[in-house]
Amino acid sequence: MIFNIITIFPLMFDRIFDFGVISQGIKSDKLKINIHNLRDFTHDKHKVVDDRPFGGGPGMVLKPEPLFEAVESIKSKNPGSRVIYLTPQGKKLTQEKIEDLSKRENLTIICGRYEGIDQRVIDNLVDEEISIGDYVLSGGEIPAMTIVDAVSRLIPKVIKNEEFNDSESFSDKTDRTKLDYKVYTRPENYKGKKVPEILLSGNHEEIRKWRK
Ligand code: SAM
Repeated sequence: MIFNIITIFPLMFDRIFDFGVISQGIKSDKLKINIHNLRDFTHDKHKVVDDRPFGGGPGMVLKPEPLFEAVESIKSKNPGSRVIYLTPQGKKLTQEKIEDLSKRENLTIICGRYEGIDQRVIDNLVDEEISIGDYVLSGGEIPAMTIVDAVSRLIPKVIKNEEFNDSESFSDKTDRTKLDYKVYTRPENYKGKKVPEILLSGNHEEIRKWRK
């Protein structure tokens, strides 16, 4: 899976993918994460990426030209890449959507900032708009990290088979509301707080029922 992320703050991504399963996925070539600095697609001395909104109002809007150039440049090397814009106005992210995205081979994610991005980019280049929840963040970078993390876990071999938990929350396709069971580890008794007896019984059928 290849992720292309367009951002005005590339440094935010400096360490985030250096840990855990994502870093293993990158090392084993199952994942590739390309971070694109939107300012690299400007042509003026000050590398301006934003401007005031037409019609007035507060804040700034990310200009169309650098975004068009960035997406077109990515698409010339990654034809067929699905372009996602992260926005509170998008369809709310679910595990089902994450599963759907994990089946694609190449995603391009636009991180908005300020008041958002020029609508012409959305109308002409974006395949889908996704929101990570009904609240407003200051930029699309954390939502992009969320998508990369959740999608990457579903790429074959990023998580080792023995670590894969098919009862994981939201993974039941017949009932998306199902959540994972409670888990405990050693010690059996921590300052009088005990692990449920059933988990120590060795009776796998009863344990399965208890977990259900
Ligand atoms: N004016 C916009 C609004 O009211 O919907 C908010 C813009 S927000 C300050 C700046 C950027 O953060 C957005 O363009 C978007 O890329 C990102 N963002 C903020 N909240 C988000 C969310 N819940 N899901 C996805 N992206 C979000």
